[in-house]
Amino acid sequence: MKIVHLATEFAMVAKAGGLGDVLLGLGRELVRQGQNVEVILPKYDTISPTFLSDKRTDLKDFVCEEGGSLHRNTMWKIDASGFPLLLLEAHHPKRYFSRGKIYGCEDDTARFLYFSKACLEYLKAKKTPIDVLHLHDWPVAIAALLVKEIYRLPIKSVVLTIHNAEYQGLCASWDLDAIGLAGENYLTEDLLQDERYPEAINLLKGAIIYADAIAAVSPSYAKEILTEPYGGSLSPVLRKYRGKIVGILNGIDHSMWNPAEDKALPLHYNNSLSIDAICKAKESARLQIREQFHLDLMQRPWVGSITRLVPQKGPELIEEALLLTLEQKGSFILLGSSPIPAIQDHFDSLKKKYASNRNVLLYYHYNETLAHQLFAALDLLIAPSRFEPCGLTQLIAMRYGTVPLVRATGGLQDTVFDFENEKITADKRNGFVFHHSTKADFTHAFLRAIDQFRRNKESFRLLLKRGMQLDYSWKKPTREYIKLYEDCKAR
Ligand code: ADP
Repeated sequence: MKIVHLATEFAMVAKAGGLGDVLLGLGRELVRQGQNVEVILPKYDTISPTFLSDKRTDLKDFVCEEGGSLHRNTMWKIDASGFPLLLLEAHHPKRYFSRGKIYGCEDDTARFLYFSKACLEYLKAKKTPIDVLHLHDWPVAIAALLVKEIYRLPIKSVVLTIHNAEYQGLCASWDLDAIGLAGENYLTEDLLQDERYPEAINLLKGAIIYADAIAAVSPSYAKEILTEPYGGSLSPVLRKYRGKIVGILNGIDHSMWNPAEDKALPLHYNNSLSIDAICKAKESARLQIREQFHLDLMQRPWVGSITRLVPQKGPELIEEALLLTLEQKGSFILLGSSPIPAIQDHFDSLKKKYASNRNVLLYYHYNETLAHQLFAALDLLIAPSRFEPCGLTQLIAMRYGTVPLVRATGGLQDTVFDFENEKITADKRNGFVFHHSTKADFTHAFLRAIDQFRRNKESFRLLLKRGMQLDYSWKKPTREYIKLYEDCKAR
């Protein structure tokens, strides 16, 4: 099948979170499983020149109309570590993708509406028949409506993946006018009108209505979003179209996340080694971090999190973990920053408070290399999310021999099974789980984990090894996506 993904992230090239990992992992595995795949994303100015050194145009320039003016675009083809990636360069006076960041501009709606439309203009000029146009999240959601109502393109089906239903792309009806749609006409209950804010257009809702099939990124999340706390104002429309929703658990790319050949690590390891050898390699990763940051971090266990600091991720429980870890004489490491000023300010104040504590490392930047080193160095990775569509850090952690402690929600609940869960066989238990987003519940699970780490070392080491043996690669999820694509074709 010829499959074209429209997306706003692709790991290594342009990544803000898990979406980038998914595009790279799923894209590569679809190719491995014999599909003809293209991923198109904006040519952000943040993309490293190393990827652009060998770029070539895919087609002669093409135009896209916005706000009554025609704008020129170039589609570049680059080699992203073996994957042919298409980058849309918009020669637009507003320099939409030259903002030094992927998201977080005031005109994000206009930027991504333009990107979506320009991608379809490109496909129109290209004329290649496409089996599946696969859309990812709100920024490219409008493409579903454009394909079904406006453009006549040789596209057989449109698939939407919902990576996070919290971000829905609310905008004004005149935002649609700019890309040539009569926005007012879509402001009705059965079209794009938002359920909660009736004067607003909900872009993700549009793709839910117009897509032929919808995937949510884990089986639990596929059910959760049908309810108000998770689906928010989209839950009624998701319930209406529940027949086209499936849950497909994300995987992780086994070549990008591989402790056996990870360039960021001083010593490589894999799950066929003895536990002692694995622990030795993990110790070398800790040493590397200690030296890099001139910190003792001598206390064990090493507890940490690699995350965006947003309400979804349970920042108050991450802070609680810091306090508990120090109380329990461990070391705490946090890699993550917040797009929300109040949360970032609070974590900045924590950094000041613990500035002289040599068992705390709070690092508030995006740092891919440090992320890899930390996945190897930690003993316990915490993911105390209030909701979590899939979550990748728990999967990566397990592959690197780090035991996850998570809240039972969404994909976390589908992948981490408590050490003491008697409802499942012992060989399936791979971490620690708590159920309610309360300090009491979190503390209980946390102290159980510390207790195992300290007093029951052998069983903790077995948990670590069991996590490494699990296969959360993209193989199975990709087969499920291919089935979804084929089901669309058969309809
Ligand atoms: P989300 O997509 O909601 O942010 P996921 O758990 O699905 O959460 O994916 C997060 C991805 O982003 C992981 O690959 C994680 O390693 C990475 N990540 C998060 N914060 C940072 C950071 N500060 N530096 C480097 N990588 C990060």
